[in-house]
Amino acid sequence: MKRYIFVTGGVVSSLGKGIISASIGKLLQARGYSITIQKFDPYINIDPGTLNPYEHGECYVTVDGMETDLDLGHYERFTGIRTTRANSFTTGKIYKAVIDKERRGDYLGKTIQVVPHITDEIKRRMLRENDEDVDFVISEIGGTIGDIESAPFLEAIRQLKWELGNRAVSVHLTYVPYLRAADELKTKPTQHSVKEMQGAGIQPDVLVLRTEKHLSDGIRQKVASFCNVDLECVVQSEDLPSIYDVPVNMQNQGLDSAILRKFGVPVGETPKMEGWHRFLELQRTANKEVRVGLVGKYDLQDAYKSIRESLILAGIYNHVKVKIDFINSENITEENVSEKLSQVAGILVCPGFGQRGIEGKIIAVEYARTHNLPAFGICLGMQMMVIEFARNVLKYSDAHSAEMDPATEHNVIDLMEEQKSVTNMGGTMRLGAYDCTLRAGSRVAEIYGTSQISERHRHRYEFNNRYKEEYEKHGMQCVGVNPGNDLVEVVEIPDHRWFIGTQFHPEYSSTVLHPHPLFMSFVQEVAK
Ligand code: GLN
Repeated sequence: MKRYIFVTGGVVSSLGKGIISASIGKLLQARGYSITIQKFDPYINIDPGTLNPYEHGECYVTVDGMETDLDLGHYERFTGIRTTRANSFTTGKIYKAVIDKERRGDYLGKTIQVVPHITDEIKRRMLRENDEDVDFVISEIGGTIGDIESAPFLEAIRQLKWELGNRAVSVHLTYVPYLRAADELKTKPTQHSVKEMQGAGIQPDVLVLRTEKHLSDGIRQKVASFCNVDLECVVQSEDLPSIYDVPVNMQNQGLDSAILRKFGVPVGETPKMEGWHRFLELQRTANKEVRVGLVGKYDLQDAYKSIRESLILAGIYNHVKVKIDFINSENITEENVSEKLSQVAGILVCPGFGQRGIEGKIIAVEYARTHNLPAFGICLGMQMMVIEFARNVLKYSDAHSAEMDPATEHNVIDLMEEQKSVTNMGGTMRLGAYDCTLRAGSRVAEIYGTSQISERHRHRYEFNNRYKEEYEKHGMQCVGVNPGNDLVEVVEIPDHRWFIGTQFHPEYSSTVLHPHPLFMSFVQEVAK
């Protein structure tokens, strides 16, 4: 018998609904419950795969190859669960399912409408009746209450709350601003936001008030009585030094126990979450700062979310504080590279698409390779390592990726065979987890401690195997390959302090309790 938690947000966006949803999941897990968390995004794109990262930040990829919102990264990092394509929905995906059915004739002549056809489709996904058995399904609704496009999702929640009775709980996240001139915290926006929910027929059961300043009991009391919510169900979430403090803080504020009480489930003892506390203790006491240069083109924190978090997590377990210096590769030149990289102890060359900023990435890679500076290339970053090596070691001055220069004679990175017939851009890359065999004795095999791995991908281009022998003869080893089709997945330079490029994205599978071995090893080397 599944129970359902619906997480919505009001007043403003960017309140951290994803972190709160992930924290609820974590806290329920700590009490021994099984959970899943899913995200509903109100935009019309089928998935965020075709979106520019400036729109909604990083595109996260599930093991089964769905391109999703970055909140799924939080879900996985916090809870350790593996999400799938059944954990991410957009308005576009919902409409597409309905329209496909209509074209098939499934509706037998009916007029297709937002209510009930779209809302029924949303409800089915929220209910997950045919999916794995879990105790709690947490559904996070993207956007802010009052947005036109979130209306069908609210209507679905309203109906489900009515149908499910005490098997459904609504958690609403709002913002309590502090007005400096008046020296006052203001609850009016929260009242309005709850009114908006009530107008849609939903009475929130639990309110999480985001605030920069501590809220007195008086303020919580006021919110409780104006919003028809029990005082113990008005929880405050103050700004904290790290997002990883949030679950413990929410536990202290009683968020999970309030939710359980609303379900009529016995609360029981507060779990200790020892592993998590050990991690927080390491985080608190890691003082030595280590600077890593993030070489990329998106000057936006969220664009490389999972990479940033993976670096920070690996830092904490190496007992250092990783400070990430974003280095815009568009501004890197032969002349300024030594100055640009002078403050960092290692570089991570980011994934990406297209021409912009890649020459700067190649220059940064050359600098790292020739100065024995630890370098970690991911996806496009790995491809830049391969191109740099071809140009400067193999002496093919025109070496390039067919993505940027389809006419080059030395296409050391080439379009994958299976991609040659692809015309649509959405959801057609090589996506999701694939097996990879690591060469015995290689650095990367030693780091993983195994020769068989599986990692997630998101790309169309690949290492051109015609050049493999030449690379290996000159010192760049192709130490990870797909056992089925021989695609090169990992390159390394064994003579270098730490120079590894991966065609896959290890950052997607680093979690709070299990930091990824490649990030662990990279940060360990950088910290030396
Ligand atoms: N643009 C490159 C490709 O498609 C790399 C993609 C990436 O970095 N995710 O192969």
